[in-house]
Amino acid sequence: MKKYRIIDFHTHPFTNAYTNICVNQGECDMSKELSKSCLTQLGVEKICGSVISPSIRKHKPFLWEYTEELNNMALELREYYQGFYIPGFHVHPGFVKESIKEIERMDKLGVKIIGELVQYMSKWDGYNYASKELWEILEVAEHYGMIVDFHSGDNEEGMASMDEMVKRFPKLILVGAHIGGDSSLVHHVKRLESSENYYVDIAASGLGEYGRLRFLMDRFGKERFIYGSDFPTCNESMFVSSLMFDDLFSEEEKEYVYFKNAARLLNIKD
Ligand SMILES: [Zn+2]
Repeated sequence: MKKYRIIDFHTHPFTNAYTNICVNQGECDMSKELSKSCLTQLGVEKICGSVISPSIRKHKPFLWEYTEELNNMALELREYYQGFYIPGFHVHPGFVKESIKEIERMDKLGVKIIGELVQYMSKWDGYNYASKELWEILEVAEHYGMIVDFHSGDNEEGMASMDEMVKRFPKLILVGAHIGGDSSLVHHVKRLESSENYYVDIAASGLGEYGRLRFLMDRFGKERFIYGSDFPTCNESMFVSSLMFDDLFSEEEKEYVYFKNAARLLNIKD
């Protein structure tokens, strides 16, 4: 069995039960070190992504500090994993000034990924991806050359707001997380057509539909799709193997999805 070099662009590393999004964590032996060994044995050399918490929505009133806390955990995990983890951080359209300051802080610390942003989990009540508040933040993100990964599954209105954002920011590298179902596919096609800087991270949903990634790749080429798993909510071994054993893709295409596309965006040299 060929072992591929893999960058998992879409994970959510955790520091404790509050930030561990695995719903079966009570049944699994999970630790930061075990998570790493479970991924590296599959060929995963690096992981990216934000620290998230399903419980964050419960805070009332919702303060910027809760978002900042997750970002600080990501920085702590970067130290802990020593090169294995490339952190992503959160911005929040409800906190424009704070988000802009956070982009400046993260830029100084060498952090280049915003997201995965998960709007439904991060209490974006009343905002979507076409909100003027978010666009103010994204202008700064573009200035600093950030990459923005966002959760692309939503209702029609939410997905249409993502289409607008992609159209509005053709120079910003935007990555839509999850291929998703039929309606998501239509929106991905629209965005892939409207911006050369729009990518799809194939984590969690859509890859299980036979031929779905093949359909997108036939239209847009091998360089617009990035491997992701959504570990630890999803099973890494399933995602690694589903592409590995899929005869619809050439070896070269697999190498681009597993490694080369993310490496190019993240400036990782071999
Ligand atoms: Zn995710």
